[in-house]
Amino acid sequence: MRDFSYLRADTIEAARNASALPGAMLLAGGTTLVDLAKCGVAEPSTVIDISHIDGLNTIDITPERAVIGALAKMSHVADNVEVKSRFPAVSEALWQAASAQLRNMATIGGNLMQRTRCPYFRDPQNFPACNKRAPGSGCSAIGGVTRGHAVLGVSEACIATYPGDLAIALVAFDAEVHLGERKLKVEDFFLAPGATAEREHDIRPGEVITAIEIPGSAAARRSTYIKVRDRQSYEFAAASAAVGLELEADGRTIRDIRVALGGVATRPWRARAVEDTLRGKALDEHIVREACELAMQGAVDHGANHYKIALAPRVAARAILKLGETA
Ligand SMILES: Cc1cc2nc3c(=O)[nH]c(=O)nc-3n(C[C@H](O)[C@H](O)[C@H](O)COP(=O)(O)OP(=O)(O)OC[C@H]3O[C@@H](n4cnc5c(N)ncnc54)[C@H](O)[C@@H]3O)c2cc1C
Ligand code: SF4
Repeated sequence: MRDFSYLRADTIEAARNASALPGAMLLAGGTTLVDLAKCGVAEPSTVIDISHIDGLNTIDITPERAVIGALAKMSHVADNVEVKSRFPAVSEALWQAASAQLRNMATIGGNLMQRTRCPYFRDPQNFPACNKRAPGSGCSAIGGVTRGHAVLGVSEACIATYPGDLAIALVAFDAEVHLGERKLKVEDFFLAPGATAEREHDIRPGEVITAIEIPGSAAARRSTYIKVRDRQSYEFAAASAAVGLELEADGRTIRDIRVALGGVATRPWRARAVEDTLRGKALDEHIVREACELAMQGAVDHGANHYKIALAPRVAARAILKLGETA
């Protein structure tokens, strides 16, 4: 781990100014940054500790929206009674992320900024070729072990999976991220690799995430997050789905539906083809399963991750049908 300077920012303004310095990185809960520094991926010249900034850990919920401060801990948000009742998928996604200890340390802003778990990315000594770490160096995963890699949104430069859970639910419900002057859809905040795999987030020097904002909706109120993984806790998704459902008064026809997938794409993946097909249709198992197959349009596998193409539609269908049972 290389030497760095430590700077404590007590205001958002100070954090913004300091984060514009070359080589500066923000520290919130530290659960990702310290790992990345230890394995030699992050080499900050200055670490700016933002964990003491007042007023950034609030959770404000009205019928119209939830506004959650960037320094709110994952565990606090997951356990918030209003989040549980108005945005169950958000609470469930957080509960199924990481471990209890990590959730008590980790923040919402840091969660959005986490980097991929591609093992080649995190091992610079043994795998120098990684376009995300060293642009133009190649990709060690292509032709390597790909069981955890993405099948959607991949490019010839990078096939790394977006690893987080929370953002899948945020994308399903059209949440926004507040960056000071700018507000962006969370969906647009995450970038597919294309030819610039090193850019994962649309965040500029001098910008700090201050909050996320989630619009309230009937679909958000009846929502769930299902995560399938190799073991039941402390594991990233092999495939996951955040789903929200609103039915017509007949209790059977789909008025609104939201579907976003995790564990299978290079960024949180909204499955609009599935939503468009199901809106106005009856909530019928055969129709739902057939529609969910559309989520995999354009999927490209690299051998060992082929199973995700079959798995993800089943996870999405299971989530929709589970919500239907509670109708
Ligand atoms: C073993 C392990 C298992 C995990 N499992 C999961 C999982 O299953 N699902 C899941 O979703 N996550 C998982 N995580 C990731 C975990 O959720 C993140 O480490 C955590 O959310 C990061 O938050 P933090 O506050 O600790 O961020 P930090 O480590 O402090 O920061 C992370 C990054 O975000 C930047 N940053 C922090 N705050 C801001 C801000 N306000 N504005 C701009 N940039 C900012 C930092 O500069 C840094 O680059 C796991 C992590 C570990 C170590
Ligand atoms: S998949 Fe992406 S992160 Fe992994 S080695 Fe290839 S370029 Fe690097």
